[in-house]
Amino acid sequence: MSDASAPRESAHRSGYVAILGRPNVGKSTLLNQVLGRKIAAVTPKPQTTRRRLLGIKTLPAAQILFFDTPGIHQPRDLMNERMVALAKQSLADADLALWLLDASAALETADRNIAEWLRTVSLPVKVALNKIDRVQKGQLLPLMAEIATLLPDCEIIPISALTGESIDVLLQVIVAALPEGPAYYPGDEITDESERGIVAEIVREKVMLETRDEVPYAVAVTIDTFEEKPEKQLVVINATIHVERESQKPIVIGNRGTRIKRIGQLARADIEELLSCRVFLELFVRVQPGWTKQLARLREFGL
Ligand code: GDP
Ligand code: MG
Repeated sequence: MSDASAPRESAHRSGYVAILGRPNVGKSTLLNQVLGRKIAAVTPKPQTTRRRLLGIKTLPAAQILFFDTPGIHQPRDLMNERMVALAKQSLADADLALWLLDASAALETADRNIAEWLRTVSLPVKVALNKIDRVQKGQLLPLMAEIATLLPDCEIIPISALTGESIDVLLQVIVAALPEGPAYYPGDEITDESERGIVAEIVREKVMLETRDEVPYAVAVTIDTFEEKPEKQLVVINATIHVERESQKPIVIGNRGTRIKRIGQLARADIEELLSCRVFLELFVRVQPGWTKQLARLREFGL
């Protein structure tokens, strides 16, 4: 029996998937897990991801283009407003919305707001219930039932972005919901972000991990030089860590430079893995007063 309107199973599929969800639910971790490489900064602190990041997953018969978006939340200041606008904007270009939830946390008003908004969008929506490694399987059912009342008929896939559990199932579900289409990128590309851009994110992640209170959010990173020395199988990188206030500079540097040294060591290890070669990394700290308030500066930093 054949149905002309049914999609051909053998057809190649492709499309854009916007990963949405509250801060800290694991969007960047999911992207890194799917790609098998770290391209997105991951920290236990909310709002780590500041800008839209494209991750390309090429499968034998499909290409999925993931957007890791800044989390959806109430705007707080100028930087946050831009992040929310970016998240909503990413849905405009998407073929599918993937809403990520934390299975180890109860639903909040913010989640109900996201669900309400998602009910109004014309795209297919899938829900991934993340961090199932942190909960008993029996605990999932009430949460899934609650989500089902918010988004009736929506497929819910329990996963662990951290361990990789059921990521293959999630990919299958996504592919089945994508339109037929060609691969947009070469099969060996995993992101449209430059190596410099990823390196800057890695340094920023380490600063966020190693500092506390307001400092992590007051940081932007730019790459000043990125010099490949093939004869020495070495890449020489100079990066600047921009902070907002004079008082934040010694915090990033630490007592006798211990913190900046640690940030550099952690970042270098990740960058060496990313680039598969030796890396010489030098970090500078610069005070850039009130940069989160300055839109022009945000743009300069690629936000
Ligand atoms: P984002 O803000 O949504 O991008 O969240 P991140 O990817 O930065 O992750 C936030 C925190 O949750 C990090 O500490 C991750 O290690 C952690 N995390 C993400 N996914 C999982 C998961 O599947 N299981 C567990 N146990 N932790 C996770
Ligand atoms: Mg993130």
